[in-house]
Amino acid sequence: MGLLKQKDKKKSSLGSHMRGGGASGTQVSPLRPRMLEKLPPCTHACPSGNDIRGWLMAIALRDKLGIGLDEATEMAWRIEVETNPFPAVMGRVCPHPCEGDCNRGAKDGAVSINAVERHVGDWALSHGLSLQTMPGEDAKAQRVAVIGAGPAGLSCAYQLARRGYAVTVLESLPHPGGMLRYGIPVYRLPREVLDREIQRILDLGVELRCGVTVGRDITMEQLRADYDAVFLGIGAHQGKKLGVPGEDGDGVYTGTEFLNAVNSGRSVGVGEKVVVIGGGDTAIDAARVSKRVAADSAGVSRRLGAEVTILYRRTRTEMPAIDREIDEAIEENIAIEYLTAPLEVLRNGDGAVTAIRVQRMELGEPDASGRRRPVPVEGDVFEIEADTVITAVSQQPDTATLGSLDAAWIEADDWGRTRYENVWSGGDNITLGLATTAVGQGRRAAEAIHASLQGREPQAPWLPPVIRSDKVRLDWYEAKPRAERSVLAPEARLAEPDREVDGGITEEQALAEVARCFSCGKCFGCENCWMYCQNSGFKKLQSPTHGHFYDIKMEVCDGCKKCWEECPCGFIEGQ
Ligand code: FAD
Repeated sequence: MGLLKQKDKKKSSLGSHMRGGGASGTQVSPLRPRMLEKLPPCTHACPSGNDIRGWLMAIALRDKLGIGLDEATEMAWRIEVETNPFPAVMGRVCPHPCEGDCNRGAKDGAVSINAVERHVGDWALSHGLSLQTMPGEDAKAQRVAVIGAGPAGLSCAYQLARRGYAVTVLESLPHPGGMLRYGIPVYRLPREVLDREIQRILDLGVELRCGVTVGRDITMEQLRADYDAVFLGIGAHQGKKLGVPGEDGDGVYTGTEFLNAVNSGRSVGVGEKVVVIGGGDTAIDAARVSKRVAADSAGVSRRLGAEVTILYRRTRTEMPAIDREIDEAIEENIAIEYLTAPLEVLRNGDGAVTAIRVQRMELGEPDASGRRRPVPVEGDVFEIEADTVITAVSQQPDTATLGSLDAAWIEADDWGRTRYENVWSGGDNITLGLATTAVGQGRRAAEAIHASLQGREPQAPWLPPVIRSDKVRLDWYEAKPRAERSVLAPEARLAEPDREVDGGITEEQALAEVARCFSCGKCFGCENCWMYCQNSGFKKLQSPTHGHFYDIKMEVCDGCKKCWEECPCGFIEGQ
């Protein structure tokens, strides 16, 4: 990377950096260089703690490390599945907080981490890669029950199975996947991708029992008696109500209820006019799905279905839904009425929904969440015609079936430990979050369960400091535009409602994209230190690895600082 440029630079800069035993009179530092790996901001921002830099650079460094592309891509996938067994799923649905923090954002746009993740995930599926048990972990006698086959439960099951435990997952719905299957629409996440990534976890020996509701078919107490540990990952499937008149009755669904019905293959008639209330992912998904199912339910072959309007009480800036999804909804002619709140669902004499009465809002002072509080604009009330109203304001866990266990299990610590001795908990039933958060919490709970079953406390690994863009030599890296995914045109989306909207990136784009990673805080063998050191203080290793391309010969160092000044990724520093 930039080698020629750097060699030229070296020649031209020799004069100004003449030194060696202080012969030039240049100030030398009493400090000495040290190589210290830093935590990249992508991993720091990733709720599942994924080693993103590790798998991007596994591919980017393939030539320097002397491995072929296939081997490098498999290595990347294996690094990724250490903490996330769903790369192809997450590469499609994760709103990628990692990219928001990527240091490359300060130069020419964050690395398209999520798109590369999908590329690696799809590559692994097409090459039939399987998950493996952890080296050094034997089969264990203890048994663990996992309640809920959502990303939290499956992540927990995976991490325990790879450590040798016998794991049984109990799931009340007919198929595993949780909200990935019963919430997220198929045009965002093809079910074949989900099925295959789940199957890989089951192939590790995890037993899955669908159609079993804990609390109804088996009690929590029974599970606690039969198993050495229980993980609760029941999610939050109960849509919260609006609390307005007219809400109860036909024609009004909660977002989760509506999406569950559609994703279960049940026909849902929504009529010609649909109003969706909310600003999160559930609202956007419900709106886009009602646009797609309306024609089906009316038995008409055309696909441009209902007229859909979303009501949101704040503005676009505050909308919590994934930005790209909002854009795509707008492209599909879904109207968004910002700064509006429902007052009443209006019905005719037969009880059918006819309209919704709406209050115009404006933004006032910030509330506890830091967002400006919407307040009503006095006298500004209007009606919007509707056949169906979908309320997607929030969700909560449905604890009704769990029997004598009170809701206290929801209060779990960072390790998922609850007040019950052998019960751990994670995912949406703790706080509504992202799939990646659920995966991360499932893993941490598995680590805590493992520690507990081995009779010790869980240990968080030591993490180095995070490296931000001010400690990276942004100017050293060549500017390269970020790869963008291909997206299906809006007309094609509605003509083929189940077709995946996001087309991903090509292999060529993925390879260009991994080369954009700065490898923040970890040596990638750029040679700068080796070239700039006048005393030949850097020894190239015969068999380098990411993070270890050179050894320092400290005995020849005169403290000129050049190596750490010229280290582009911030790996070398003075001490
Ligand atoms: P869930 O996925 O809800 O899984 C819980 C499982 O437990 C379910 O399968 C349920 O049937 C089962 N269960 C419940 N009670 C019992 C019981 N008593 N006995 C046995 N089984 C039981 N996140 C993203 O990152 N990106 C997105 O694009 C995105 N879009 C979303 C769209 C929608 C419409 C929704 C609703 C959520 C979306 N999310 C998204 C959030 C994400 O899906 C959740 O954060 C994630 O699925 C939570 O995982 P979980 O395992 O905690 O719960």
